[in-house]
Amino acid sequence: MSARRLDGAALAAQIRAELAPRVSAFVLAQGRPPALAVVLAGDDPASEIYVRNKLKTVAAAGCRAELIRLPATAALEEALTIVDRLNADPAIDAILVQSPLPAGMGGDAEQRVFDALDPAKDVDGFHPENVGRLVQKRPTLVACTPLGCIELLEREQIPIARANAVVIGRSDIVGKPMALLLLHRDATVTVCHSKTRDLAAVARSADILVAAIGRPGFVTRDFVKAGATVIDVGINTVTDETEVARLFPANSRKREQFAQKGSVLVGDVHPEVEEIAGALTPVPGGVGPLTVAMVLRNTIAAAEQRASRPARRTIRT
Ligand code: NAP
Repeated sequence: MSARRLDGAALAAQIRAELAPRVSAFVLAQGRPPALAVVLAGDDPASEIYVRNKLKTVAAAGCRAELIRLPATAALEEALTIVDRLNADPAIDAILVQSPLPAGMGGDAEQRVFDALDPAKDVDGFHPENVGRLVQKRPTLVACTPLGCIELLEREQIPIARANAVVIGRSDIVGKPMALLLLHRDATVTVCHSKTRDLAAVARSADILVAAIGRPGFVTRDFVKAGATVIDVGINTVTDETEVARLFPANSRKREQFAQKGSVLVGDVHPEVEEIAGALTPVPGGVGPLTVAMVLRNTIAAAEQRASRPARRTIRT
């Protein structure tokens, strides 16, 4: 048996097409397109690619996409000053600060920058006010990667209500919001992490298994119940030949790619899982394109929301 391939790239194209009339309507009503500003600090190669894809997608949809760069040596205060400026700019609807921030900005830099964002412009849904609203199942901007995973499950008509869902990973960016979104759709959710006992056995209880770990091919067939839906969030660049040999058979396309480029892109799920899962997202072409489509959707949603209620939301204590 070979798992059904959940084609994130095709779904993302469909979502972009569905969003086009909302962009046109916004332009007609406001006399300007929805606008996203992305702040990229440092020169992390993966971040460069993610940011390029986000800006390209948002611009191609007819929105304004602005990139603000900071050198790897920039101080945290510089990032905070940019965030303040973007918060105050009435022509900017959505702000995305790409993580990771340079180590020199300090261990709590991301939290301080996310805290400084205007929650109404927080396209990634990382501001504590937006996280709190998500916890309470109230309408809000939600983190793009888990939102994309839910969109994929729903559009592929994979039942979530009453399903046993296991999320491996508990980050603020993926694991936790993913668990909440599944819970709000009536799944019974288990969140696993590096201290989870007998992880494979817990994972095997899942009808829906989400892997957001950051370890190439970590989820092997032992982790997967026959017929389960497996969502592979991981994006890992593997440069080690032994590791590539563990993951891909000789003469496979990935081995050829490795021989040519010296690296391959691998998810958190071992390719052998294809033989046991009922449905599986590929890497690349699975969760990644949906994440980018959700950046676009959140940008449009933030713009529409601001246009209907332009004043900054205040945090009530
Ligand atoms: P992260 O912040 O590093 O979190 C990783 C999580 O995995 C942590 O909760 C960690 O547990 C857990 N973990 C690590 N080793 C483990 C082990 N041996 N057993 C069980 N759990 C383990 O990573 P992230 O930001 O959530 O990202 C996860 C992956 O998704 C990465 O590959 C990243 O590149 C990818 N990603 C993809 C997209 C996309 O658009 N497709 C977007 C975002 C992230 P502890 O909490 O106990 O340390």
